[in-house]
Amino acid sequence: MHLIFLGPPACGKGTQSAILEQKYGYYHLSTGDLMRREVATGSELGKTIKLNIEKGVLAASEIVNELLKKDVENHKQMSILFDGYPRKIDQAKFLDSVLEKNKDTLKRVFYFDIDAEELFQRILSRVTCNACGAVYNLRTNPPKEDGVCDSCGSHELVRRGDDNEEILKNRIQSFFEETAPLREFYQKRGILSVINARAPVEIVTEQIINAL
Ligand code: AMP
Repeated sequence: MHLIFLGPPACGKGTQSAILEQKYGYYHLSTGDLMRREVATGSELGKTIKLNIEKGVLAASEIVNELLKKDVENHKQMSILFDGYPRKIDQAKFLDSVLEKNKDTLKRVFYFDIDAEELFQRILSRVTCNACGAVYNLRTNPPKEDGVCDSCGSHELVRRGDDNEEILKNRIQSFFEETAPLREFYQKRGILSVINARAPVEIVTEQIINAL
């Protein structure tokens, strides 16, 4: 039974995904990660995706859907935690069709509720481990040892290229215009839980676990 994390950039989806992955063995499917992996291959498709990421705008659904479908098929036996997908109604419908084909269902959708001002504060102090992908916030959730990844010990904690103010504005705008309507979409199905994402990491985890 699968879960969806819906929320704007830096709302804590990645951090909570890592916690649930470790605690309950969910497969963390981040379409942002799939896209960055495709960019890293240097393929023609990757070049197109790179342009979208650099502008902070959504990639075409056909591109994301294809990557998503393949990854879901590769993890058929697992409970999947969708992070960053769907981001539009058409993607939500596509996901329904993929899951239906596998006779699978969505268990719950979590909407990470947080205001744009807090996101700006957070995102500008966010770093990611280049080696294992762990995410930290230097202000609210720093690594135990300065500059060292808690998970794998790497010293490569870097800021994502699209974590800057200019691109961030587009990413946040895109969330509130294109993705936020999914809240109502899943609410109507009765599987939506709204999480107070301003709360500290442990409290957010608690809210999620209580609603599972
Ligand atoms: P994220 O790591 O989830 O913030 O995603 C980084 C970038 O990848 C986004 O700004 C988009 O350009 C692209 N992307 C990721 N997921 C999607 C999606 N579901 N639909 C369209 N574009 C996406």
